[in-house]
Amino acid sequence: MMSPPKIALIGAGPAGLTLARLLQQNQFNCTIYESEVDRYVRNQGGTLDLHTKTGQLALKEAGLLEEFKKYARPEGECMKLVKHDGTVLWDENETGNSNRVAEDSDRPEIDRVRLRDILLDSLQPGTIKWNRKLLRVDADTKTRGISGDRETYTLHFTDGSVEKDIDLLVGADGAWSKVRPLLTDEQPFYSGITCIELWSLGVDAKNPWLSRYVGKGSCFMFDEGRALLCQRNGEQNGSVRTYACVRMPEKWAEESGIDWAGTHARETLVERHFNDCGDDLKRLILESRDELIVRKAWMLPVGIKWESRPGVTLLGDAAHLMTPFAGVGVNVAMADALELARALISCKDSVVAKESSDDHNIAVAIKQYETEMFERGRQNAQKTWDNMQGHFSANGSEELAARLKGHN
Ligand SMILES: Cc1cc2nc3c(=O)[nH]c(=O)nc-3n(C[C@H](O)[C@H](O)[C@H](O)COP(=O)(O)OP(=O)(O)OC[C@H]3O[C@@H](n4cnc5c(N)ncnc54)[C@H](O)[C@@H]3O)c2cc1C
Repeated sequence: MMSPPKIALIGAGPAGLTLARLLQQNQFNCTIYESEVDRYVRNQGGTLDLHTKTGQLALKEAGLLEEFKKYARPEGECMKLVKHDGTVLWDENETGNSNRVAEDSDRPEIDRVRLRDILLDSLQPGTIKWNRKLLRVDADTKTRGISGDRETYTLHFTDGSVEKDIDLLVGADGAWSKVRPLLTDEQPFYSGITCIELWSLGVDAKNPWLSRYVGKGSCFMFDEGRALLCQRNGEQNGSVRTYACVRMPEKWAEESGIDWAGTHARETLVERHFNDCGDDLKRLILESRDELIVRKAWMLPVGIKWESRPGVTLLGDAAHLMTPFAGVGVNVAMADALELARALISCKDSVVAKESSDDHNIAVAIKQYETEMFERGRQNAQKTWDNMQGHFSANGSEELAARLKGHN
């Protein structure tokens, strides 16, 4: 009897973890190789809203929707929109969000770290090999009896270790995927936006003003070439993460002369880029003093695709990295995981498939998955790109407020 296919997933982000869970539920063995040392290592901070037809659907099929609901924050959907001068244009903390159009509602928030825990805890023990950072992949052609040539993959890790004879390799290793070069030469490029991530922890107790101002969910200001994106997170009984974003050249953060680790970074940022804003908006930056991280927004070309290759594919950001301005990245990543799992399951269980080899079935499943994934990626990347143009324009706040009011 032939041994089952050896399946390797690279990356224990939302995409890789969701796929592993769905595969294990359907009697596929798989291993995830993850570069981080363990589950506690990185600031996994931030909050994600999961949409019904993508993120939530994947969790439902993975049998984890009820667990998600225990920790989800429906009130986190509340949105407040402010103009650069501080005028509040829209505030669902007061009105609720009942007159939102359907596609913009039922998107409860969950802390990224909590979502990751739910997925991690759902996997069979030993599924994840931590501290295994993929360096490169070699493709090996093997000749096999009547079914002819097939390809397997050898994984080389930075610690010198090697994994051989991988039949199905799935790159869920995010923006700087080391699997992607097997499929395309495309690399992420700078989108033109740099975001300064600022944290204020435990705001309910430590800064009641900030807690009240941001409200239960998100508080956004969009303007020509700049934006403030604030979101309440669940950790430490209420924390606020603010992105102060500016449209600037790629090397701006390094060449601006701002000492990002220094004590005056926030004051200088405000002085140079937000000085004409309302006082409340300036306070959002100045009073978020617990952490500062510079993040450049990278993206892959809208509509990226490649020639399907039997035995290897990509999921999530590895496949179609986009900027965060439509809040869809994690949802598309989890939808990818769901669709790839469905394709693999159907190709394993169909009558025709039972008469074919595993590698033939895997190749068919990948092609089927990629056809839809390319289109899903393109549509969402286009939406994100359009949002970015709209948000970083002079009427960015007004336009979104009008859409939420149902005027557009
Ligand atoms: C600032 C910011 C805000 C965002 N906000 C939102 C939002 O509000 N809503 C939303 O839907 N999306 C948001 N996103 C996008 C979302 O975070 C991503 O789309 C989502 O995390 C993609 O999941 P993934 O599993 O594909 O990749 P990732 O989450 O990037 O996971 C990749 C995993 O692979 C591991 N890895 C990387 N390289 C290697 C290697 N060489 N070897 C082994 N392991 C490796 C990493 O450590 C990581 O665990 C945001 C993104 C950013 C940057």
